[in-house]
Amino acid sequence: ESLINKIAAGEIIHRPASALKELLENCLDAGATSIRVTVKEGGLKLLQIQDNGCGIRKADLPILAERFTTSKISTFSDLSKIATYGFRGEALASMSHVARLSVVTKTKTETCAWKAHYLDGVLVEGKPGQTVDPKPCAGNDGTTIIASAALFPYIQLKRSASDEYARILDVMTKYAIHNPKVAFVCKKVGSNTPDLSTPPNADKPQAIRMLYGNAISKDLLHASFGAKKVQEAEGVEDVEMADAEDTNRPESWSAEARFTNPNYQSKKMVFLLFINHRLVESPRMKRALENVYSGILPKGASPFVYLSLQIDPRDVDVNVHPTKKEVHFLNEESITDQITSRLQRALAAQSQ
Ligand code: ADP
Ligand code: MG
Repeated sequence: ESLINKIAAGEIIHRPASALKELLENCLDAGATSIRVTVKEGGLKLLQIQDNGCGIRKADLPILAERFTTSKISTFSDLSKIATYGFRGEALASMSHVARLSVVTKTKTETCAWKAHYLDGVLVEGKPGQTVDPKPCAGNDGTTIIASAALFPYIQLKRSASDEYARILDVMTKYAIHNPKVAFVCKKVGSNTPDLSTPPNADKPQAIRMLYGNAISKDLLHASFGAKKVQEAEGVEDVEMADAEDTNRPESWSAEARFTNPNYQSKKMVFLLFINHRLVESPRMKRALENVYSGILPKGASPFVYLSLQIDPRDVDVNVHPTKKEVHFLNEESITDQITSRLQRALAAQSQ
């Protein structure tokens, strides 16, 4: 049982940065306006994340790290969330198979915080001899999660702490840009100076300038756009259902883009893609954008592109495991084409 779970979990949480991504999303889901991350050895030894979000109800703690189960669905299912992300509910479960999790959490209505420990999907004792129930303790509103002890034991064999820390900072940087109202801090255990720190209530250009440097944001172009194509309800039956999904579902999406103008030069392309507020990868989209710039930028220069896409969650491919970063969605080609031609026009207008 345990080995299979560990292997499965290791595919989802394959390094500290992928754990951090899931934890960050939970904090953001919880409405946090402040997220503080502390790591030891690139997160291989310890990964702590503290938020000031809504907290977890004490009654929900016993099943927090269970896999996708009926009880979990009925306890945790929140319709708006299912609509936004599609229900997954397995990040903490997976993490508890590759690390020991400690949770301290307090909702606004609770008079004290509650602490619980998890291993392999279930509540465990904090210290030998203690009961497994959540225990009352002091704490502020919000949640602190610590993944520690023999964290990622087999992952440690293949990873270097400095490389992992760089990835953690990269993930945080990207979420900080996507969520400029939220204050993010990331530091190493024992260090007083954070390696990443953003103020609350910034806007995207400010966040980009802060995190990627003045040169980028001075040159940033901005575009918001989308498509709404509503099909007539009648007539659907008459249509040959060659592409069934396409036929009865309107193509509806929106996008926000921030991208460097033709004069900007950097060594490496920086591409941030969020789909429904999740950081994802789309090699196809990246290539298409590189092509847009390839005729414009001097040889060796690369663009910065931030793209936030909102797509009907039903159109995001659920066959690709939701915690995998690479994503596919309905009308991917057409949406990619529309985005690249929009960027092309904006860039052409600039270089005139
Ligand atoms: P999912 O986010 O897909 O539901 P997770 O395993 O990541 O699955 O989290 C399980 C549940 O635990 C969440 O749905 C949420 O209700 C609760 N939770 C996790 N982290 C936090 C947090 N930082 N603040 C409040 N609730 C949280
Ligand atoms: Mg989650």
